[in-house]
Amino acid sequence: MLILDPPLRAGDIVQMKKPHACGGDIWAVLMAGADVRLKCKECGRVVLLDRVKFNRRLKKRTYVAPQDLSTS
Ligand SMILES: [Zn+2]
Repeated sequence: MLILDPPLRAGDIVQMKKPHACGGDIWAVLMAGADVRLKCKECGRVVLLDRVKFNRRLKKRTYVAPQDLSTS
């Protein structure tokens, strides 16, 4: 499993292995808990993935948020 350091958090930007239906593969992380809420940067669609699915689909993190936006 891919280990992220620092851990995934709201505000991060990730690239997924499989492009979204709209063709975009870059997502903004809105929430990173037991489930991960992602917003497609291309079309704005929001999806909810559980951690297992998220880890399986994650290609790489392209941006690390300077702080956890969900707690500020
Ligand atoms: Zn999309």
